[in-house]
Amino acid sequence: MNNKSHLKKLRKNIVWPHSANISYYGTKAPILINCHGSTYTDINGVQYIDALAGVANVNLGYGQDKIIDAMKNQLDQLSYNYSSYSISVPELELAESLLNILPENMGRIFFGTGGSEANETAIKLARQYHYISDNKKKHRIISRKISYHGATLGALSATSFLVRTRAFEPLLLDFPKVNAAYPYRSDDDELDLGVQLAQEFEQTIKNEDADTISAFIAEPVVGMAGGAIVPPSNYMKNIKEICDKYNVLLIFDEIITGFGRTGKMFATEHWNVEPDIMTMGKGLTSGYSPLSAVSTSKKINEIFEDSDSAFMHGITYGGHPVSCAAGQASLDMYVKKNMSNYAVTKGDVLINAFKEFKHNLIGDVRGLGLLIGIELVSDQKSKKPFKLNQEVGKFVASKSLEKGVKIYGGKGAEPELMGDLVIISPPFVIESTQIDKIIEVVDETISSAEKEFL
Ligand code: PLP
Repeated sequence: MNNKSHLKKLRKNIVWPHSANISYYGTKAPILINCHGSTYTDINGVQYIDALAGVANVNLGYGQDKIIDAMKNQLDQLSYNYSSYSISVPELELAESLLNILPENMGRIFFGTGGSEANETAIKLARQYHYISDNKKKHRIISRKISYHGATLGALSATSFLVRTRAFEPLLLDFPKVNAAYPYRSDDDELDLGVQLAQEFEQTIKNEDADTISAFIAEPVVGMAGGAIVPPSNYMKNIKEICDKYNVLLIFDEIITGFGRTGKMFATEHWNVEPDIMTMGKGLTSGYSPLSAVSTSKKINEIFEDSDSAFMHGITYGGHPVSCAAGQASLDMYVKKNMSNYAVTKGDVLINAFKEFKHNLIGDVRGLGLLIGIELVSDQKSKKPFKLNQEVGKFVASKSLEKGVKIYGGKGAEPELMGDLVIISPPFVIESTQIDKIIEVVDETISSAEKEFL
């Protein structure tokens, strides 16, 4: 094995970091060698609690034997299938298992490899659905401010997250954006807000010409872009009604919220709203292998089936048999062990502890299940954000890492209009002593931020 100093030299010079400064990655990023449960260890033997669960995907924790064995067995049986010419047993089995837990109206699954690609798939599916239905002008997606739908250029066009988009503007596709459903920064009663936002959405469809709008995409609970923003309880239902009125498909991006993360198998269950398309990734295999899934409603499927049209979209590694085996083993665990319940009970412990924090820079503590956000502001009363050059969220995250706890910290999607964000989203198998440690470290590091920035 390479020695440590050689590995550190490689870290500095030859790998592109994902969305991180080259200088940080080159000098500070832990170089990992193994993981177990909710922790991982670096080459210096330092152990970290992963209170972010990878990136909110390792829901079931590291080192689950049943998932690992299922992948090994699959490799022995069938190591690859090209889904255009033939189909593998694990792909069929996983599609059936998924349809058993998805909303009633869902009928088919398209398997890909990651979340961004799942949203690209959804955008193309919506366009081809309207194309076949002889609504050929319907080609644009409406999305929301304060959102993240992926790093690829189509998904990024639907995204509104300044630090992730500004170097790539003008974005590839001209997608209109409506306001986020963001109760903390609204003076209105929550239900009034849900009505107003739906009205704004309807007006946007009219202004942009309903004949050109194919779909609306939203994260049911906003993840990294907003720090676990939960919409008003009437919002999703109101939006769905307007989508149906204007023949606009409703796409739920459940990449981060799916598979129990918010305390239900899918976040849409909180409001009982059935989307036309749902995108899934992250927790589907709990990080054991790259896989995403896009489910389509029976309404969409019928149009494709009746016209016997090929969906013109294929990906070499989409629905890889080993990934599907990992997905099936993960799904068995989610269902048999009712894992979303752990997200409810452990999420309650964490969010209640954070709500007790007395630091003056805490503006809001919010979330559902084990997707929890803390919004940090320079003034609690006015909710004024920190200055652009005050990286308070990043400070909290990096101090926490130094103390052995990995969390997310950064600017919100609209840094001039919202505070810095800290996100805590541990694996569902997190132990109570580890929860105590997370609470202690987040408390200490927000306290340090208060001394440094207020
Ligand atoms: N959509 C949401 C809501 C996400 O949180 C993410 C990733 O964080 C994506 C899409 C993109 O997924 P991926 O990073 O797997 O491409």
